[in-house]
Amino acid sequence: QVDFANPVGFSGLPSDFESVLLSSGIERDEAVENAQAIMDILNNQYKGAHEKPVQIAGLRRSPRPAATGDREASRKLNIPLDQANKDIFKLEDPRKYYHSIVKIGQGSYGSVYKASDARKKKVIAIKTVKPSDEEAWDVVTYETNMMRSIQHQNLVHCYEAFKFSERAWIVMEYMDAGSLTDVIEYLDTCGLGFDECHIAYILKNILQGLLCLHSRGKIHRDVKSDNVLLGLDGSVKLADFGFCTELTDPRAKRNTVIGTPFWMAPEVIRGQKYGTKCDIWSTSILAIECAEAQPPWVKETAMRAMFLIATNGPPRLKDKGAWSAEFNSFMERCTELAPAKRASAEELLAHPFLAKSSTKTDMARIFRAAYQE
Ligand code: ATP
Repeated sequence: QVDFANPVGFSGLPSDFESVLLSSGIERDEAVENAQAIMDILNNQYKGAHEKPVQIAGLRRSPRPAATGDREASRKLNIPLDQANKDIFKLEDPRKYYHSIVKIGQGSYGSVYKASDARKKKVIAIKTVKPSDEEAWDVVTYETNMMRSIQHQNLVHCYEAFKFSERAWIVMEYMDAGSLTDVIEYLDTCGLGFDECHIAYILKNILQGLLCLHSRGKIHRDVKSDNVLLGLDGSVKLADFGFCTELTDPRAKRNTVIGTPFWMAPEVIRGQKYGTKCDIWSTSILAIECAEAQPPWVKETAMRAMFLIATNGPPRLKDKGAWSAEFNSFMERCTELAPAKRASAEELLAHPFLAKSSTKTDMARIFRAAYQE
């Protein structure tokens, strides 16, 4: 039995599991059983996960929730890295080819720079990572191969990579309008928001990128506005393949708990086997960010948010009546609790909501306005 008064000592967890579960229409017996199962998962998987409340509202470049999960453990992938994989890194000084290097960002695993490519006369982005040991190098090598092997208009492409001064230097296409998070925060600060046609445009582009990954048996696992990069020409691309994983057998499902809490699908939080459909759930949370500026449960601690996602039923737009029937129906198709019933990227690309998509030129206007701010 769960001790509802004092579940397991996580400061972020609710002390009233029973009422949360009952109020979401779950029968008492099932509520107790679910609470126990989820507690066990949270207890085992998330010990030490950051539990600070996350504040996002209205603040430009405010702290963003970080991805959770053991990135390296997730990579014990039964995919042996042979010499061909390792050859992806050129053993030269990348500064021979790239100059005017300026730091533009800092992630949890490395820094990102903007630089000029002297040979091709264009601006590129370089991510540098300093792996701590051989195993960490395998992780970076795996990720770099993944990025190099896929070329799609909606996925940030990797041009080449170097191993130099104990670092991996990953040269990528430079996305000159920043991240979707920046644009959402800019609009929110101005008291504005995207129209449905803009949301449809963004989702269409992301789903095209996901379809490319999914059809190759790959799951992104960290779809969120921070990982959507934009171009001043109106382009929208999915970035950060850091948590991307491969399903070696098309029927295989993974059960490593990984992602960023607010965007995580319930089956991922529960530690159940999951497949490509977890990216579809996260895409619906991305849609909510576009519509409401924030993902659901963002004022909660990461732990409590995960509990609520796993128990509270599908997320919905707060003011359903303010949005079209097509948008509401799109959300329902993305947030079916049973992954088998949830729509695939291919099915969603045919959904009538995406027919409302605005044009690249329209989006370019919005991205430029946010960029200039
Ligand atoms: P984490 O690695 O923890 O998920 P993150 O996604 O913020 O965090 P990075 O992917 O390292 O970290 O990115 C750091 C910053 O650099 C972000 O602001 C991101 O928008 C920017 N950035 C990353 N890649 C590019 C790119 N190809 N073009 C332009 N900006 C980029």
